[in-house]
Amino acid sequence: MPDLMDGVANFRRDVFPAKAGLFARLATEHRPATLFIGCSDARVVPELITQSEPGELFVIRTAGNLVPAHSPTADGTAASIEYAVSVLGVTDVIVCGHSGCGAMTALAEGHDLTGAPQVATWLRHADASLARAATAGPGEVAALVWANVSAQLRNLATHPSVARALAERRLTLHGWVFDIASGTVDRLETLDRTGV
Ligand SMILES: [Zn+2]
Repeated sequence: MPDLMDGVANFRRDVFPAKAGLFARLATEHRPATLFIGCSDARVVPELITQSEPGELFVIRTAGNLVPAHSPTADGTAASIEYAVSVLGVTDVIVCGHSGCGAMTALAEGHDLTGAPQVATWLRHADASLARAATAGPGEVAALVWANVSAQLRNLATHPSVARALAERRLTLHGWVFDIASGTVDRLETLDRTGV
């Protein structure tokens, strides 16, 4: 493993001093305007892509940027969504997919996941994405990535905190796809405040 503490030392020495004022304010203030839900993929770094400063993005990263639909059983993703929307009062939510997504590739190409049963179960949250992408033909990873962003936005809207904020027109949902090779972001048509 690379010595990440070297990175910490560099941060303290070369980066932190210029942002000391920002961090001093953030020590007692947490008011992000945006909830960013992206893939856990190491190549998709929300703050880098959006050039955001600390304190600006509330981030949830899951395999395949999947957002399980609401269920009465609490889980970490649902709790983080509720906290961002109901407590922090974010005004925008981005669900961001990306090119070359391992999760979407596994689904589109029907990979054998018997050796990764937790992954296989988790990816069932993309069943609707697969159904939506079916018309594009099997193996169409890019089509599935887009269909999945759209499907996860719909799942997001089933969470009561999100549904309430959409009904009160204080939340806007956005769908993005990040292309790793070019660094570009394409957007689904911005979804208006009535939801998806
Ligand atoms: Zn991914």
